[in-house]
Amino acid sequence: MDCLFCRIIKGEIPSSLVYEDENIYAFRDIAPQAPVHILVVPKQHVSGINELDEVSSAIASKVLVVIRDLAKREGIAESGYRVVINTGKDGQQSVDHLHFHLLGGRTLEWPPG
Ligand code: IMP
Repeated sequence: MDCLFCRIIKGEIPSSLVYEDENIYAFRDIAPQAPVHILVVPKQHVSGINELDEVSSAIASKVLVVIRDLAKREGIAESGYRVVINTGKDGQQSVDHLHFHLLGGRTLEWPPG
């Protein structure tokens, strides 16, 4: 399978790893949009939210706990942060492997563009 994030998870493409367990892999975004910009990715290939099933949605909920812990570790838990899942064409999803953006370390604007 020629999925960028599957290749990163397999170690075929280098990444700045910040967390890994049996089901989840988290690494720093190559083009950070904030001082903290981490991608938290279920290892099992799921294209996006529309493709979630019972198993992958259970792992997605574990991703939130990992995000909570990463936010603490990165020192942004108290000041605040944003979690983003871009989905599909209008959502500007560019990599078709479900991933959660953890963004923080500055005041983020709302609404997004
Ligand atoms: P999306 O646009 O929501 O699908 O997010 C994909 C993200 O992957 C973007 O923020 C990209 O900057 C990021 N990205 C693309 N290639 C790499 C890479 O090789 N390493 C780390 N992040 C990447």
